[in-house]
Amino acid sequence: MAQPPSSHETDIPASSGRVSVLLPMPFAGAFDYAAPAHMALQPGDIVSVPLGKRLETGVVWDQAPDLPPDLAFATDTKPVPASRLRPVSARLDLPPLNAELRRFVSWVAAYTLSPPGMVLAMTLRQPMQGVPAPSMGWLPAPLPETLRLTPARQKVLSTLGEGPPRTTTDLANAAGVGAAVIRGLADAGALRPVRLDPGHAFATPDPDHCPPVLEGAQLEAAQALRANVREGGFSVTLLEGVTGSGKTEIYQEAVAACLKTGRQVLVLLPEIALSAQWMERFARRFGVPPAIWHSEIGQKARRQTWLGTADGAVQVVVGARSALFLPFKALGLIIVDEEHEPLFKQEEGVLYNARDMAVLRGRLAGVPVILASATPSLETLANVEAGRYRHLVLPTRHGGAALPETRLLDLRDHPPPRGLFLSPVLRDEIAATLERQEQAMLFLNRRGYAPLTLCRACGHRMECPHCTSWLVEHRARQVLSCHYCDTTQPLPTSCPACNAENSLTAIGPGIERITEEARELFPDARILVMSSDTLGGPKATAAAIEKISRREADLIIGTQVVAKGWHFPYLTLVGVVDADLGLGGADLRAGERTIQLLHQVAGRAGRAEAPGRVVLQSYMPEHPVMQALLSGDFDSFMAQEAAQRKPGFWPPYGRLAALVVSAAEAQAADQAAAMLGRAAPYGEGIQVLGPAPAPLALLRGRHRRRLLLRTRRSIAVQPILRRWLAAVDLGRAVRVDVDIDPVSFL
Ligand code: ADP
Ligand code: ZN
Repeated sequence: MAQPPSSHETDIPASSGRVSVLLPMPFAGAFDYAAPAHMALQPGDIVSVPLGKRLETGVVWDQAPDLPPDLAFATDTKPVPASRLRPVSARLDLPPLNAELRRFVSWVAAYTLSPPGMVLAMTLRQPMQGVPAPSMGWLPAPLPETLRLTPARQKVLSTLGEGPPRTTTDLANAAGVGAAVIRGLADAGALRPVRLDPGHAFATPDPDHCPPVLEGAQLEAAQALRANVREGGFSVTLLEGVTGSGKTEIYQEAVAACLKTGRQVLVLLPEIALSAQWMERFARRFGVPPAIWHSEIGQKARRQTWLGTADGAVQVVVGARSALFLPFKALGLIIVDEEHEPLFKQEEGVLYNARDMAVLRGRLAGVPVILASATPSLETLANVEAGRYRHLVLPTRHGGAALPETRLLDLRDHPPPRGLFLSPVLRDEIAATLERQEQAMLFLNRRGYAPLTLCRACGHRMECPHCTSWLVEHRARQVLSCHYCDTTQPLPTSCPACNAENSLTAIGPGIERITEEARELFPDARILVMSSDTLGGPKATAAAIEKISRREADLIIGTQVVAKGWHFPYLTLVGVVDADLGLGGADLRAGERTIQLLHQVAGRAGRAEAPGRVVLQSYMPEHPVMQALLSGDFDSFMAQEAAQRKPGFWPPYGRLAALVVSAAEAQAADQAAAMLGRAAPYGEGIQVLGPAPAPLALLRGRHRRRLLLRTRRSIAVQPILRRWLAAVDLGRAVRVDVDIDPVSFL
C-alpha cells in the first residue's frame, strides 16, 4: 500500500510491525505506518498518525478488506520499505471499530465507488469534529523491560502509585517534573491512558412499559417479527400497511423483542423533522425516549451517543441516514420506516441509498431488517416477489377508521377563477370542513410565491445566472431565489431585458400564493403554513405539529413536510392543489413517486373517528396515477409499472449507474463527456445512454453532461465502471460523479 505524503523520515525500532491506517479523507486507500510494539495495535483501533506536518485521526484497517468478488478490486501500489514508514503516534482511548463495521465501510465504499476514507468519515468524523478530546488520565502499566528509569521518571511512577488516574498536568505538578517526562513514559509504554469523563447515562427503555393490545393481522405481524428477532440472523421483512394501520405500533413490538435479547436497535427515518412525534410515541410505549441521531443534534450529544452506541449504553437509536454508520456494539435489529422515500438517497459526498445500505449492514451484522411503508418501492416489491424478502401486510386502519374517500377534480370542468388556483368545488369543501370545526389541509409541493416570473411586454423569463432554472419569487422576502443554488436577488421593478416598467408577472402558484388566496377566502380561519421557509428546523416543525394536534389551527397549508407520517386526529380534509406536479420530467420513477407522495398526503386525513376526504385537483384525471389514487388499487398500478420496466431492464429488473460530468467550461464538459462516450463499455446486456446535457445542464455555474450505464441484473456495474473510468484521462478541470442506483435524474 501507498505511503502518505511525508515531510521527513524517521528511524523505527526493529521491533515495530506494520499496520495500515485508513484516514477519513478522499485517498484511494489506507496508508502503511510502523506500529510501535508497546501499542499492540489491532484492526479497528482508533489512532493518531502523522500526515505531512499534521497529526490526523484514523483507524487501523484490515490488510485486505474482505469484499465480494463483484466489488473486489486490486490496488497497484508497491509496499513502502519498512525503513521509510513513519510510526503511529498514539492509540486513542476510544472504543475500536469492530470487524462488522469495518467490513460495512469497505463494502459501501466499493459499492458506491467512493474512496473508503470518505465512507469512514461518516463513521468517524462525526464524533471527532470540533469536540474537545475527552479528558484523559494516566494509570501505571507493567514496566517494559527496555525502560530507562531516570530519577524524574521514578518520581512520576511513585507519585502515581496504583492510581487513581491523573491528568498529565496534575501528575507533572505533583511529581515536580515537566510534561515531557510524562509523555516519554507514555511513549515507552509505562503509562496507560484512560478516559476520565464518565460515560453519559442513557435511560433504559422498558420493553414491557406499555404494550398495545393486538389482534388479527396486527397480532400475526407482531408475532412474526418477534420470532424473527428472537431467532436472529439476517432476513428482510417488508411491513406493508395503509396509513394508520399500525405499522409503527407493530415494529415497536419488534423493538421490544430485541431489547429483551439485550441487543441494540437502529431505526432510520427519512427526515429528522419526523422524529419529534416519533420520539413521543416511543416514550409512551417504552417509558423513555430513544437516543437520537441527525445532523442537528449538538456536538456533545453527538459524541455521547456515538460512544454510547459503541459501549452498549445506548439501546435504541432513531436517526436520519447517517445513523447507519454508528459503531453499534451489538446490533440486533434495523428498521427503515417509509422505505420508499427518495430522501434516503444521499445526493452529496458519498452517494448512497440508506435503505439499501441498511439491508447490507443487516446482512453483514447477521440481523433482521424491517422495511415499513404504505406504498413500498418497486425495488422492494420485486425482492418480495423473488422470494428474497418476507412480506407482512396490515390491510386496514386501526380501530375501524375508514380510509379517506378520494375525489378526483377535473380542473377543465371546474376551473378556478382567473388568476386563482383553488376550484370552487375545493373551496366549498374547505368551507364545509371549517364549518364543522374540523381541520383542512392544502398541499402543494412548491415553496415560494410563484415558480416563474415573466415579462408581459417581451416574454423574458427571470432565470438563474448559474443554473438551468427559473428564479422563484418569494414575495414575503421580496426576492427572486434559485432553489438549486440559493442565489437571491431583489424583485426588479422593470424588466431587465426590455426595461418595461411593472411588466413582470408571477406565473403559477407556490404555497405563499395559495396562502394569499386562502386568506381572502377564509378570513376567519387560523391558517398555519408549513414549509422549510417558515419552519427553521426540527424544533419549529415539532411546535407546528403540536399546534395542529392541539387544534390551534384550522387550515394547514404546506409543502412536502406535511406529507410525512404525522398523526393529526382532527384533520378530515386534504386538498391537493396540483396533483399533476410530479409527473413531468425525465424521472424513471415519476409515476411511482407521485403515487407514494399523494397517498402519503391523503393518509393524513381521517385518522381518528371522523371520516376523511381527499380532493385531487388535476388536468389529467385519466392518467393511470390519478386513477390508481382514485381506486386505491396500488397493487395493479405497481404491476403496470413493473410490466413497463421489465422489457427494457430498467430498475429493479436491471442495474443503473449515472456518470455526471461537470466542468466550469461548457466545452470541457462536452469533450470529457464525448471521451467517456467513445470509451463506453459494450457487450451482451450492457448499454450506455448518452452523453447528453443534464436536465440541469448548468448547476452552480458548472456545465453538466450525463451518461447512463444500464446492465442486466446479473451484471454488476462496479467492475465495468472501474475499467471505464481508468481508461480515460479527463484532466483536472473536469469532475465525474458516479451515482450507483441513481434516484435523481437531474
Ligand atoms: P402507521 O404507522 O401504519 O401509519 P400507526 O402505527 O401510526 O400506523 O397507527 C395509527 C394510529 O392507531 C396511532 O395513533 C396508533 O397509536 C394507533 N394504533 C394502531 N394500532 C393500535 C393498537 N393495537 N392499539 C392501540 N392503538 C393503536
Ligand atoms: Zn441557481
